[in-house]
Amino acid sequence: MTTISTTKDNPARIPPLAAGALLRTEPDRNCPLCPRLAAFREAARLREPEWYNAPVRPFGDPDGRLLIVGLAPGMQGANRTGRPFTGDYAGDLLYATLLEYGFAKGKYQARPDDGLKLVDCRIGNAVHCVPPQNKPLPLEINTCRPFLSAIIESMPNLRAIVALGRIAHDSTLKALGIRGSAAPFGHGAIHPAGARKLYDSYHCSRYNTNTRVLTPEMFRNVFAKIRADLD
Ligand code: SF4
Repeated sequence: MTTISTTKDNPARIPPLAAGALLRTEPDRNCPLCPRLAAFREAARLREPEWYNAPVRPFGDPDGRLLIVGLAPGMQGANRTGRPFTGDYAGDLLYATLLEYGFAKGKYQARPDDGLKLVDCRIGNAVHCVPPQNKPLPLEINTCRPFLSAIIESMPNLRAIVALGRIAHDSTLKALGIRGSAAPFGHGAIHPAGARKLYDSYHCSRYNTNTRVLTPEMFRNVFAKIRADLD
């Protein structure tokens, strides 16, 4: 965990914005706050020592206007490669769509050293560690929320947030201090959030696309709307 320590014996060393505060920004590689997820992570490290197997940091431009919030790293995707949505099916659809709407440049090749760059855009997750069966518990979602809040607060130009799925939507609302009843989740819904807007989408998982809960066209429509709003 990143901290800024202060001492009253040495006030000259206190950064002005952090005076008196414990600033939690990114989880430590061995973040212990969710014991179940920490144990799951440790088991993955033993089984697959070459994989990333740690809390996955956001990817992209902190000065960007767009933030995409996913659920959590996938075991074979971000947990393996260390970059959000990289290495599993959800990334194929997400990055293809971001490239199409000018929020990315380069070529997505499902590995973190493929040279892909996000443009005016950043990607993070509601939960930073891979959960068993892609299902974090409510307590784990709550425990990880300060790190999601830190991602949001670290983006001074943020105008648009895409929540991929209901869990990302609910946690983002709480991070923004908005009551759930004021902004119910629905694919294609757009919720005002102060100077920002929250855009809802079904998650771009293989399950959702295989069952046609989400089609590529439905997903593209969300980003087409954001592109139009930002332009
Ligand atoms: S999910 Fe978040 S809070 Fe929980 S152990 Fe991982 S980084 Fe820490």
